[in-house]
Amino acid sequence: MIFMRGRRFLAKFVLATVMVTVLAGGAWADRAKYVFLMIGDGMAMPQRNAAEIYLASMAGKDARPGIVKLAMSTLPAQGFCTTYSTNSIITDSAAAGTALATGNKTKSGVIAMNPTGTESHETIAEMAHKRGMKVGIVSSVSIEHATPACFYSHNESRNDYYELACQLPESGFEYFAGGGFKKPKGPKGDQPDVMGIIDKAGYRITETIEDFRKLSKEDGKIVAINPVLWSGKAMPYAVDETDRSISLADFTAKGIELLDNPEGFFMMVEGGKIDWACHANDAVSSIGDTIAFDEAVKVALDFYNDHPEDTLVVVTGDHETGGLTIGFAGTKYDTFFGKLDGQKMSYEAFDLVLVDYRKSTEGKGSLEDFFPQVEKAFGLSLKGQDAVTGSELASLKQAFAESMKGSKERSEDQETYLLYGGYEPFSIALTHLLNRRAGLAWTSYAHTGVPVPVSAVGVGQETFNGYYDNTDVFRKMTSAMGL
Ligand SMILES: [Zn+2]
Repeated sequence: MIFMRGRRFLAKFVLATVMVTVLAGGAWADRAKYVFLMIGDGMAMPQRNAAEIYLASMAGKDARPGIVKLAMSTLPAQGFCTTYSTNSIITDSAAAGTALATGNKTKSGVIAMNPTGTESHETIAEMAHKRGMKVGIVSSVSIEHATPACFYSHNESRNDYYELACQLPESGFEYFAGGGFKKPKGPKGDQPDVMGIIDKAGYRITETIEDFRKLSKEDGKIVAINPVLWSGKAMPYAVDETDRSISLADFTAKGIELLDNPEGFFMMVEGGKIDWACHANDAVSSIGDTIAFDEAVKVALDFYNDHPEDTLVVVTGDHETGGLTIGFAGTKYDTFFGKLDGQKMSYEAFDLVLVDYRKSTEGKGSLEDFFPQVEKAFGLSLKGQDAVTGSELASLKQAFAESMKGSKERSEDQETYLLYGGYEPFSIALTHLLNRRAGLAWTSYAHTGVPVPVSAVGVGQETFNGYYDNTDVFRKMTSAMGL
């Protein structure tokens, strides 16, 4: 009976909604005209949840367990998707990007092609562009990195950075923004500069904040590169960002300003360094970049709120990275996320401090001598109530000794890999120590095979509820877009 009444009520409600929409004069939207696909690289439930617990903890809610929801977690449709590639349960960004961009599974490492690299798959961005929509590709890592590349280029290997970059102007897409180019003159540095090729193809390239802010629709096609680039020609981690840098949210907002037109647009926005932070087992940097990515999501949601009838915003990850979880054997049922606040820079920024020290002391420095830097960067101390002692101190000493060696003198055995994953040993030992104290732990320096959340709002949002495959995300989106 209750079920029947529920059904009847629902029918009435739907009818009323249709009438209200028609009466309000808005055309009954049959397709999503403004489409955002926001991809947190390496962002699955643990990354989102860690950021939400951290936000609650910073808001002074540490006394009572809780979360402060990210904007992406407030979206009305929430689902999960599987991520495996054709050759592994644990995918990479190329195969996962290909699945999201083209609806096809492929082999890890392949960009928008079939597993043998003999056939290109058309991407959602190319389909949208063909239909007359404008297209934007935004990423916090280099713009020819696997995830963004999957939307505008095709190659059997994600590592052909130069080749991927050369395909960028051929796409004709209107807006590329974020990081730079890893190999602008080819792998050997003897090829024509890709910046010149892009310039010749009629793109305007900006590399300063001033030029970026001045960009308007009259400027035509754009490649906007962040003025501050760190390793891999990527934007800095959010925790290391200064006001000389442009944020992912700013790049997203500018994209909307430049792409907005009556035919609509498709914009892919990637938070690329959530993944990099998790490879390095640095929870604070992962949380910082997840929050920065969520700021970009908020920009898309603001646009949605102004155009609810013809906008679709989809937020997902391409895979999990690091095997992050909430909980550690040493802290059992407790978490202490407040301790994460002690970390003031990324492992990458700390690496620079550490390498400087190694050089200035010619590898003969001592842990005690260097510890003031550790205190500044991670809020850890050798004295006092919360001092690093016992087994924690022993592991720091071991890692410090390893870091004082040149990278060529370090052991390459499995034991060393399990401890440091090929990163600067002392930096990894410190993030592990701090993360474990907070009640966070890692199982890998690579990706893992767990499903990732998919959140959506707008035209066709209801189709994103449930449990499906990453290739279905493409089908759900193209169907909402009427492609
Ligand atoms: Zn990835």
